[in-house]
Amino acid sequence: MSVSPAAPGSTAALRLANVDRVVRALRSGGPLTQAEVSRTTELAPATVSNIVKSLVAAGVLQTSGGAGRRGATVEFAETAGVVAGVDFGHSHVQVGLGDLSGRVLASRQVPLAHDHRYDDGLGVALELLAELSNGLPGPARSLHGVGLGLPAPIGTTGLVDAGSILPGWIGVDAAAVAGEAFGVTTIVDNDANLGALAEFTVGAGVGTHSMAYIKVASGVGCGLVLDGRVYRGGLGTAGELGHVTIDESGPLCRCGNRGCLEAYVGGSSLIQQYAPVQTDIGVPELIDRALDGDVGARRLVEDAGRHLGHAVSLVANLLAPEAVVVGGEVGVAGDLLLDAVREGLRRHALENVVGRIRVVPAALGTESSAVGAVLLGLEAVRLPI
Ligand SMILES: [Zn+2]
Repeated sequence: MSVSPAAPGSTAALRLANVDRVVRALRSGGPLTQAEVSRTTELAPATVSNIVKSLVAAGVLQTSGGAGRRGATVEFAETAGVVAGVDFGHSHVQVGLGDLSGRVLASRQVPLAHDHRYDDGLGVALELLAELSNGLPGPARSLHGVGLGLPAPIGTTGLVDAGSILPGWIGVDAAAVAGEAFGVTTIVDNDANLGALAEFTVGAGVGTHSMAYIKVASGVGCGLVLDGRVYRGGLGTAGELGHVTIDESGPLCRCGNRGCLEAYVGGSSLIQQYAPVQTDIGVPELIDRALDGDVGARRLVEDAGRHLGHAVSLVANLLAPEAVVVGGEVGVAGDLLLDAVREGLRRHALENVVGRIRVVPAALGTESSAVGAVLLGLEAVRLPI
């Protein structure tokens, strides 16, 4: 959540920065008393009181109870409106509505052909949004911002890169077209970055300073949080772990190179590799079979884990994150996959790193990116002050 720009160093800019601190404190710890807000933000009680007063008047916050103003509890008003998170996957779109504290109020997912046109995809998302919104009380429906996740590298130009697994979005200025469709400011990010944001903020990475989130779905994505912030790199596309080379003479990858991690570990690849046993099977069913002890499916997941461990050792040696969080629909395999990742990591990473890094499943399961999209939506909110 942020506030309108003001000239740097001006009184207005200082006030906006203070408002931002109050709002963030309430998001991560609310409801809080005004005294607690003051302690958390290190702002003077009078400053907090003044900001709370104007945000209450604007309908963003509500106060209740307490002896005197400092004892009153402050939280986001139920009628303050919502943000939406829209998460496009390889073959689905999920829309979630969250309140201004980032709590997901309602969410729905529907299948979507992977070769859909971007405007058709946005049309489906709009319908879901209207449906979910109609389930809320009238005054709470006002939409303040949208976070949009795409399984694609989003460069600093804002255009969806040719590396996307959704061909109908390539070359599109997603933030612009989605902003027009939803009628509010829309911020776009790569789905693995959103998964990292969610796991770091409310999931398995809470308490870390740096972590990597690896999404093993149809493809393989990686979102990095370094020193408390999602890291996108100077070019905007950091974290393309799926395309590190495992074997130069390995199978051809959809990116045109040979032997990329994704060509061994991605769900689409696992399905292809399973074809001699059975065709026409989805990733969730394949993972179920592996967990039920099917020898071929089990072997595929374990081999995938070892390859993934090899790739994770690069991240571990280079960036030394405290945790590697593994999610996505292949990540549902849990320790069957993760024990092999830990083994691959032990073989390839530095000993002092291996002993300290945690390799854990995503706390939000397959919902990490969708929750992250809602959290990103908060960044699009412009407070009415
Ligand atoms: Zn590749």
